[in-house]
Amino acid sequence: LLRSTMGIIVAKAEEKHILVEVVCPDEISADINLPLLEQAFVNLLDNAVKYSNPDSRVRIRTVCSDTVISISFQDTGIGIAKEHLPRLFERFYRVDKSRSRKQGGTGLGLAIVKHIAAAHNGYITVSSEIGKGSVFTIHLPIA
Ligand code: ATP
Ligand code: MG
Repeated sequence: LLRSTMGIIVAKAEEKHILVEVVCPDEISADINLPLLEQAFVNLLDNAVKYSNPDSRVRIRTVCSDTVISISFQDTGIGIAKEHLPRLFERFYRVDKSRSRKQGGTGLGLAIVKHIAAAHNGYITVSSEIGKGSVFTIHLPIA
């Protein structure tokens, strides 16, 4: 799933000389909706690349416990100010309207991620610091 996600975003990442690093155990099994989860991963990786500086690194890390799989997408990009975090997952919400218009997109990506996580009985979290970067993590319970 992560490989196919990377395949979709790789051209965009290479264009900005962004290296996508993946840390993931070899075998994880979980009952998931593959195309939906791929869409969620693509949206998060797309953001990580889009809102990062050229010549940087994006890291995808998967961590498993007995009850939860957590997949995090970490960038060292522009970051997000605290006051925006509570509204980030609303439809059409964008932090910087003029920049967003230039970069394209609709402001739906994260709203879709939130719904896909919920469809798996999971949820999404974010931590971010302006100028330092962001980490978005999808938490999926293992049935
Ligand atoms: P779309 O995903 O529909 O193409 P979008 O990327 O603007 O458009 P979302 O993915 O929903 O929309 O993200 C909402 C807003 O959150 C973005 O416009 C951007 O301001 C901010 N954002 C999202 N991810 C990041 C990130 N990794 N770093 C910095 N800002 C981010
Ligand atoms: Mg997006």
